[in-house]
Amino acid sequence: MNLDHNYVWPDGKKAAAVISIDFDGPSPYLWATRDSDASAMGELELRRFGPRQGIFRLLKLFEDLDLRISAYVPGAVAIAERNTLAALLSSGHEVAMHGYMHEKVTQLGGDQLMVVLEKSAKALEAAGVEAPFGYRSPSWELTVEALGALGEFGVDYDSSLMGYDHPYWMSNLVEVPVQWPLDDAIFYRYVPGSNWPPVTPSEVVAGWKLELDGAKRYGSLFMLTMHPWLSGRAGRMLALAELLEEYRDDDEIWWTTAKEVAQYHRLTYGAEPHESPRLGEI
Ligand SMILES: [Zn+2]
Repeated sequence: MNLDHNYVWPDGKKAAAVISIDFDGPSPYLWATRDSDASAMGELELRRFGPRQGIFRLLKLFEDLDLRISAYVPGAVAIAERNTLAALLSSGHEVAMHGYMHEKVTQLGGDQLMVVLEKSAKALEAAGVEAPFGYRSPSWELTVEALGALGEFGVDYDSSLMGYDHPYWMSNLVEVPVQWPLDDAIFYRYVPGSNWPPVTPSEVVAGWKLELDGAKRYGSLFMLTMHPWLSGRAGRMLALAELLEEYRDDDEIWWTTAKEVAQYHRLTYGAEPHESPRLGEI
């Protein structure tokens, strides 16, 4: 049995790296408090830092490094931040779906997810994004029903699950997987009531460097997920810049977007569900 069979990336690359941002604005908080009359402003303002400042720091860094990234944007944010969406698109970044108001799919019954998909697609189209859109579920949760709805709707790919650390077929969709160790939220997200302090940026980035080295060793996808309201803070930006500057010119890494990873997987590993475990298998 061959125990060392790494995923094969194009042009002899040893790993792929995608920088992704979930450009949520205040939408997760607005969704979570949709039935509340409270008018607390603390977390709302904390999250608004993302569209007001964090996103521009990130975009400037990506421009300096000539790096194209994948941005997952709730429809309501695409409408509210129309100028920023235009800036993302004119820089060649990918913009993809992320709910309308960051609705958790597990809280959407019946046809509600399809309604949300249609509404968020319209918002992205109005912002100038071209279909078919990639999709990332809010809070990285999916259901069997939601996967079916995504297939029926015709999304380009999904990027919410962690069953492999390279692209794979999940039902009829290409999955471009995420992973918790590469999510800034588990290290940086602190809101009053959190029972752990945020981790120091230099420690976080040291871990991410190990993940990049590991991706080259094991042929995996380094899918970094950042939120402008978290990673856009000053010291965190410096740490991120250090990481990207160190690895950006590494010839063994394919720096790309999730859309291009999905396209590569479809072309290389067949247009039909293939090899991956199917739903219902253990
Ligand atoms: Zn999100």
